Amino acid sequence: MALESFWAGKSSEADLLQTAAALRAANWARQHALGISIIPSNDFSLYDQVLDTSAMVGAIPPSYGWTSGDVPLATYFAMARGAQDHADAGCGHPHHGHGMVAQEMTKWFDTNYHYMVPEFARDQTFALSSRKPIEEFEEAKSLGFHTRPVLVGPVTFLKLGKSHDVKFDPLTLLDRLLPVYVEVLQALAQHGADWVQIDEPCLVLDLDSVTRDALTHAYARFSAEVPALKIMLATYFGEIGDNLDTALALPVAGLHIDLKRAPDQLSQVAVRIRPDQVLSLGVVDGRNIWRTDLSGTLDRITPVVKQLGLNRVQIAPSCSLLHVPIDLGLETDLDPDVKDWLAFAVQKMSELATFGKALTQGRASVAQALSASDSAVIARDTSPKIHSAIVAKRMAGLAGARHSRKSAFAERAEIQRKAFDLPRFPTTTIGSFPQTAHVRNARAAFACGDISQDKYEDFLRAETAEAIRWQEEIGLDVLVHGEFERNDMVQYFGEQLSGFAFTKHGWVQSYGSRYVRPPILFGDVARPKEMTVGWWRYSQSLTKRPMKAMLTGPVTILNWSFVRDDLPRSIVCRQIALAIRDEVIDLEEAGARMIQIDEAALREGLPLRKSQWKIYLDWAVDAFRISSSGVEDATQIHTHMCYSEFNDIIDAIGAMDADVISIETSRSKMELLDAFRSYKYPNEIGPGVYDIHSPRVPEIGEMTELLTFARQRLADTQLWINPDCGLKTRKWDEVRPALVNMVAAARAIRAT
Ligand code: GLN
Ligand code: ZN
Repeated sequence: MALESFWAGKSSEADLLQTAAALRAANWARQHALGISIIPSNDFSLYDQVLDTSAMVGAIPPSYGWTSGDVPLATYFAMARGAQDHADAGCGHPHHGHGMVAQEMTKWFDTNYHYMVPEFARDQTFALSSRKPIEEFEEAKSLGFHTRPVLVGPVTFLKLGKSHDVKFDPLTLLDRLLPVYVEVLQALAQHGADWVQIDEPCLVLDLDSVTRDALTHAYARFSAEVPALKIMLATYFGEIGDNLDTALALPVAGLHIDLKRAPDQLSQVAVRIRPDQVLSLGVVDGRNIWRTDLSGTLDRITPVVKQLGLNRVQIAPSCSLLHVPIDLGLETDLDPDVKDWLAFAVQKMSELATFGKALTQGRASVAQALSASDSAVIARDTSPKIHSAIVAKRMAGLAGARHSRKSAFAERAEIQRKAFDLPRFPTTTIGSFPQTAHVRNARAAFACGDISQDKYEDFLRAETAEAIRWQEEIGLDVLVHGEFERNDMVQYFGEQLSGFAFTKHGWVQSYGSRYVRPPILFGDVARPKEMTVGWWRYSQSLTKRPMKAMLTGPVTILNWSFVRDDLPRSIVCRQIALAIRDEVIDLEEAGARMIQIDEAALREGLPLRKSQWKIYLDWAVDAFRISSSGVEDATQIHTHMCYSEFNDIIDAIGAMDADVISIETSRSKMELLDAFRSYKYPNEIGPGVYDIHSPRVPEIGEMTELLTFARQRLADTQLWINPDCGLKTRKWDEVRPALVNMVAAARAIRAT
């Protein structure tokens, strides 16, 4: 809120900095009060930790106009969100002003957090340009807190970056970068820091020898040049695995391992850690919202503590608590049983303190906390709210079966072509139409009881009817209802499925000032009753053209939720798949002939290690096939995926066997269709011809050109024409002319 107000020019830089300092002070005080002994600093960011690191080392691309000295806040935010020319009223979208363009943003490892991608040039130089780690260490010190500063490690930082210079590996910049890190570490030591935490999560990835050598080189240099400062090298999000030799040989005083994601590495690391090193055990889940089984965890770690000695063991969250909501205490409406199984950041810190006390003063000193945790474990294990006999029976019935459509695609396509009688290059959209303030206000008014359900539904029906009428008018071939009734593509379904709970305040940072509130998938998933059939029936009743029914797929629902940890994700995904299958079958029975099952998040669920990809893709594809294979050959299954990398998962895309897939291609100039061509992908494809991330209205000529590129790669009979993704973030003034042009482009192509 402080950020938004500053960006809107409603408060000053001094106000913002003051609010930030107050937040930091409150966080330190809270951790201290909860009994945390190692309190971090420099873990606070005005936007993003990786961006902070770019500022710290002066990795500021020339386009931001910065040359030397401390990086000003204006430059920092220009990198984060772009900066508009004041002369240009602009569109309000930070990435498309005429002024400075924001840095690229991408997902932090396999989380749903996005970081600002550092940008390096071949002639890149570095210089200390933000003393934030030192300043915040001092700030904490002045409040009476001795902290352990956290830094993103130099090798992970370089590896996460990109360069416009071809054939140039940012890792070659390491020797130029290290002096800046050394300067920071020396300054921290001078200011009284005894430990720092340096995060090198790249250690859980598949690394080549160049990267491993870079790690060896960097940490040798730190230990030589700043010998007084102890380094806790943090790994998280997975198993160190084949990088363990490298990690253990580094001259660092401590190693942190993620024992939630990779519990099995404990025994090996505990045996092999050097006698001069401290081992930090990440036993409290930093990625998920479940309460820790305190007794069970103590049982597991006590032998390690005995073996290494108390002063060589630390207990920690598996990773930064950035990925979980702040305080469960704020949730007053959660089912009390479910609430008792959860722990958000504040509760997780108490758990850490309990571990500390149990290990130093004995379990009896925390008897109450342990028994509360034990009861929660038992209650959760045996709760009828989690286990459904009906779901178990259906799941058992699935075992081993291969889920396939009745006939192969070629036969289905034949049947569908006759049934639909669509023109060549049929036009459609991906599902949503603009979620205007008008729509959001009506939803908010309904949520707080200002308007009745009847009134709200009348409103939604009117919006839907208008969207359908307009689609007919401009001549789209396959229509959508616009998704006005949906708050979010996962939440909408979660709210209607059993096994899900929703928080009021469970916000998690997605990027910068953007937060999301993921559903909590706590129990067996089933679909008590139809979810979308009513809306589909209403929408189809308004038109003779085919109305696509619109569903979110099982893998996407899974990947965008906090998922129960008492079952493998593959099993949870199957349960969701069965629920979606039920809906698909009901839609077909109601008369739907085209059903789209979106799998926007399928790719982002890919494991960090390539060796685990196949296992994931196998069950993910299987889940999609379970959802989609219950229908007749004449029913056309669509899917949609909004990303632009298919080369490495094209086999899985093929195996999904959707009749039609729509994908994001406009920005890649259709190049990614090469993957489909070389795979000889047989089914139909709608490669996006309109970049919906931009407010720009594409010209007819641009779209026909893209279609020409598509036709060079695929057969005409395979091609559909559609935008890259749903249109919910756009304005009607942008969508109307863009889709009119898209239909014109289709007509132009048909005429050739
Ligand atoms: N049907 C959804 C929509 O149009 C798909 C969104 C997505 O894939 N992200 O909004
Ligand atoms: Zn999409």
